[in-house]
Amino acid sequence: MNLINFADSKAVLIAICTLTIIVFCRYVLMSGAFYLLFYYYFKNTFWHRKISEGLRPQGQAWSEIKWSAITSFIFALSGVGLVWLWQMGYTNIYTDFKKYGLLYLPFSLGFGLFIHETYYYWLHRWMHRPKIYRWIHKTHHDSIITSPWTSFSFHPMESILQAIVVPLIVIFLPMHYTVIMTMLVLMTVSATINHLDIEIYPKNTEKHWLGKWIIGATHHSMHHSKFIKNYGLYFTFWDKWMGTESADYEQLFRDRTKG
Ligand SMILES: [Zn+2]
Ligand SMILES: [Zn+2]
Repeated sequence: MNLINFADSKAVLIAICTLTIIVFCRYVLMSGAFYLLFYYYFKNTFWHRKISEGLRPQGQAWSEIKWSAITSFIFALSGVGLVWLWQMGYTNIYTDFKKYGLLYLPFSLGFGLFIHETYYYWLHRWMHRPKIYRWIHKTHHDSIITSPWTSFSFHPMESILQAIVVPLIVIFLPMHYTVIMTMLVLMTVSATINHLDIEIYPKNTEKHWLGKWIIGATHHSMHHSKFIKNYGLYFTFWDKWMGTESADYEQLFRDRTKG
């Protein structure tokens, strides 16, 4: 089955435009829902868990939405590229659940997330080298106090470096297409939670046997406010292993979740 007819340039263009709109709408709906829920609807319940003090500069959200629109276009290009690789038989994407057994589904998801985490952690450390930082990563750090709108606000160069990871993974790792979609959903949800600047995970998560490995808003807000430490994406293990987790993280988490 061919999803896109790559011999027809008009069909390719329509696919890119449609996917750009889908990716951008997904961003607006997800970030908008989190913004409305935690900054208005649950404000009384969660406001004491606001991590950063001070105000965001005026117009920050609009600037983030503009960069996110460009990111959506780049992610759509990557998505269409992924379909091309698949149709050409260059990937290990499969459609039959029985091919590797049911247990392989969570394994491939976990392994895919591990590869993505490893790729992003080291890419992120590299992007913080002064010369690289200025022209690739500074756009994302222009948001010192983050909000859900920051989650896809990247310089196009950084978006490209992030967009190539899923196509690269599935060239080598067999993945069911629903596992890839689950991974994309997790990517969006975790990016939104991590930029919320309100800690939503329960008290004592920072010490919990599982919770301590998961990045949340406190962890990532500290990266945006201090520019150093806490480089991870979904998980804290690389930061813990490489000694790059902020020494104040657990204390700040406790402060924001008490009461
Ligand atoms: Zn950074
Ligand atoms: Zn960020």
